[in-house]
Amino acid sequence: MTSLDERLAGLSPEKRALLTQLLQKKRAATAQADAIPRRPDPSQHPMSYAQQRLWFLDQFEPDSPFYNISAALGLTGPLDVAALEQALNAIVARHEVLRANFITEKGYPAQVVAPERRIPLPVMDLRQRSPQEQNAAVQRMAVEEARRPFDLAQDPLLRVQLLRLDEEEYVLLLTMHHIISDGWSTGVLVQELSALYPAFREGRPSPLAELPIQYADYAAWQQEWLQGEVKERQLAFWRETLGELPGPLQLPFDHPRPPVQTYRGAHHYFAIPERLQGKLAALAKEEDATLFMTLLAAFQALLHRYSGQEQIHVGTPVANRTRMELEPLIGFFVNTLVLPGRFQDSLTFRELLRQVRETALGAFAHQDLPFEMLVEELQPERDMSHTPLFQAMFDLQKAPPERFQVGDLELRVMEVETGTAKFDLILVVQEREEGLQGIIEYNTDLFEEGTIQRMAGHFLNLLESALADPDQPIARLELLSPEEKHQILVEWNDTAHPFPQDRTFHAAFQEQVTHTPDRTAVAFLDQELSFAQLNARANQMAHHLRRLGVQPDQIVALVLDRSPEMLVGILGILKAGAAYLPLDPSYPAARLQFMLEDSQAPILVTQEGLVDKLPIADLQSPISVIRLDADWPAIAQEPTDNPPEMAGPDNLAYVIYTSGSTGTPKGVLIQHRSMLHLATALHRIVYDGDDQLRRISLNAPISFDASVQQIVMLTKGYTLDILPHAVRQDSHELLRFIRERRLDALDCVPSQLKLLLDAGLLDGSGWAPAKVLPGGEAIDPETWRILRQAPATQFYNMYGPTECTVDSTIAPVHASGDQPTIGRPVPNAQAYILDPHGQPVPVGVPGELYIGGAGVARGYLNRPELTAERFVPAEELGVGSWKSEAGPLDSLLLTPYSSRLYRTGDLCRYRPDGHIEFLGRVDHQVKIRGFRIELGEIEATLRQHPSVDDAVVVAREVTAGHKQLVAYVV
Ligand code: AMP
Ligand code: MG
Repeated sequence: MTSLDERLAGLSPEKRALLTQLLQKKRAATAQADAIPRRPDPSQHPMSYAQQRLWFLDQFEPDSPFYNISAALGLTGPLDVAALEQALNAIVARHEVLRANFITEKGYPAQVVAPERRIPLPVMDLRQRSPQEQNAAVQRMAVEEARRPFDLAQDPLLRVQLLRLDEEEYVLLLTMHHIISDGWSTGVLVQELSALYPAFREGRPSPLAELPIQYADYAAWQQEWLQGEVKERQLAFWRETLGELPGPLQLPFDHPRPPVQTYRGAHHYFAIPERLQGKLAALAKEEDATLFMTLLAAFQALLHRYSGQEQIHVGTPVANRTRMELEPLIGFFVNTLVLPGRFQDSLTFRELLRQVRETALGAFAHQDLPFEMLVEELQPERDMSHTPLFQAMFDLQKAPPERFQVGDLELRVMEVETGTAKFDLILVVQEREEGLQGIIEYNTDLFEEGTIQRMAGHFLNLLESALADPDQPIARLELLSPEEKHQILVEWNDTAHPFPQDRTFHAAFQEQVTHTPDRTAVAFLDQELSFAQLNARANQMAHHLRRLGVQPDQIVALVLDRSPEMLVGILGILKAGAAYLPLDPSYPAARLQFMLEDSQAPILVTQEGLVDKLPIADLQSPISVIRLDADWPAIAQEPTDNPPEMAGPDNLAYVIYTSGSTGTPKGVLIQHRSMLHLATALHRIVYDGDDQLRRISLNAPISFDASVQQIVMLTKGYTLDILPHAVRQDSHELLRFIRERRLDALDCVPSQLKLLLDAGLLDGSGWAPAKVLPGGEAIDPETWRILRQAPATQFYNMYGPTECTVDSTIAPVHASGDQPTIGRPVPNAQAYILDPHGQPVPVGVPGELYIGGAGVARGYLNRPELTAERFVPAEELGVGSWKSEAGPLDSLLLTPYSSRLYRTGDLCRYRPDGHIEFLGRVDHQVKIRGFRIELGEIEATLRQHPSVDDAVVVAREVTAGHKQLVAYVV
């Protein structure tokens, strides 16, 4: 056990190779002359750089067990406890560092070494207990020992405890502080015990040769050696290798990162299938690389695919005993190297492996620079929430022999779960007799076990895919198992539900009229129209429009103040066969003019008081104007019966403009079918088919598609109560209005909801609506928590772009966990979260949300390129070509409504339960009080000003929770 070769066998192959190489070089070049000398003053015990850092960490967080190194050894045989204790103490006598303490002198750390120190070997007798009790006690004691902190200034920094289970059955627990030890040191300790114990048992003297030097000699030498040019050369290498430091590694965390890292952890074990091992070896051989390098490449590729980051830093430990005289020492030698991986789009796995090989060889050749010195040099931004320079580590280890014989004792290494994790994530691969075994140590503040389990699966899938074809781009490597894909793509999107897909919106409304002719359809203060009245007026309007030659797919503009006439206008236009284009009279004239011209609407429906404010005279082509009030006597001459149907479910129902990033807004084309789809989805998810809930608000302006979410409910017999302008402006007025009119459901944007909450919506002092539908922008976690606790009101987080007919996903807040989510796709909608290559991302990993199904718009008016860019045929995406056993995806889910998916530009991720979390935008679109704004549109407009050279616009939270646009101009 003590020979160099056997120790080398404990290292990963490349470390072994490099070590041997380095050792030979050093030996040949220097022989005795360059050996580390004993320090001149043996009463001084200088500290190494690594020790100084640990001391500092300990000052910062005293009594933390995270730098304990522990081992549990099972002993079987006739143990001589006195000989064991004697052996332990002989080791303590041999190694100064085992008698060391670390004290503070004038603010600086100092190592003091006791000339003598006895380590007691307490024995705990567990012989009376049952085997189960013994097992539990051993585990508990092992963890307790491993987690009991050391006082660096006082305690012996090696601690032992013997548990006696039976006459010839023991467990020896060994714990050392990392400041005097490392993994290799544990091996030295066990080896020395194995030599000393049998000798002492037989009354022989110690067979061990005296140590050539002590740890403090190494520390003194290190300080001397790592200076000037040597240090500069090392630093220069690392500066260049690491380049610009990347931000912290973004993994699919389950929980937000605590402000201070706690080192709470757990381990997940998984086997690397045998079929991969041969291929691993073959690829490594082909590329003159090692197993270490090949596995590291796969790990870096996984982290890259998870994070999307182009530079992936992974740490790896090196034993750092590059000189013969260091090998028999106990002490803190282990060093950490940072191995960067650099990714760009087309990089293949083979290319990555070559890169890793170069990086690793260079790094191992420059392993002498202590990690702490590197940190000091590179000065990464100080942040207590994670480790500096890297957060994930990789190590390939030869598993120690599980059992070995010492005289008449059999020793066996036992595994103990200590519940700690030094980094966010460590992947260890152990070479065992039965094959390769993976172990993931992970921080439990960040990750749930399920996430790590999936991660291990993704690592294996990726590895398998890379080994099958190393010349494919990393971006194409398979992460997901077929089962995962089926779950994400099919099960979570299996939303089919019947809805009236073969008719127009107004046909469905007309049918509702026959069921509830006398029920109020629309109310505005003291005005009311029943379903029959609304229908009759809309019919007159439709007949009137038909006379003007209105055709399906034609666009009729609508500009009205808030009143029941809005509904007469909308239904009249639809019944005529045309699509309505709602415009807000308060918009600037230039914008109104743009939308009227861009849409080429031949007819404008408005009212007397607004005509003069509209840019009608400035239009390039003439437009017929109908004033609903002034012209009504003429319209009232028309018949009140339903006009014959001219449109079908595929015809346009409305056009709503949204902000455009290149400077001009674009009109979104929505078909009749999509409106009826929306009505069905809402009826099912929000209203649970409950027809007692009747009175719903019309809060959003009709120029804003949130209004459609309310208007479509007319087809289910709901009453629309139009909120007057003044009521919308004042949260106290609004609350009074809701209570007075006993609204069952309220639509709003989150900013308005917050004001309503402040005004007392949930204070229990009056009527509260059964349903509140905030949507249009993200709900903050604080508000989410309040909404979850509301007793009588159910809140629904409504998510959806205008391009997908208002609502694509909905989260019932009360049933959606305690972090905000946008929920799941509504009936007949599909949601896919894809990476930049159109491949589905794993649960927890951010990607862009794509929406499919019955709500997807026809496209943008007169903007074929933009339409092609945003509405992507599914078969052009990775998902579209995916086939399960049941058939290709598009035949499963996408037809018959649309085989195109809308790219939302929203960054989202799945939770393990399939709920979608909204993370932000991939572009420069913002939401301010529910208004969708492309910052680019404003910048383009600003740049048109003669005295503006360039402009940048951002949305800033000027006061808490209050976002405003801020422009910076040159
Ligand atoms: P709009 O077309 O005006 O409905 O805007 C759609 C965009 O608003 C989406 O693409 C999201 O960026 C954002 N959005 C809408 N609803 C939500 C929501 N419930 N949570 C977070 N963001 C939302
Ligand atoms: Mg929306």
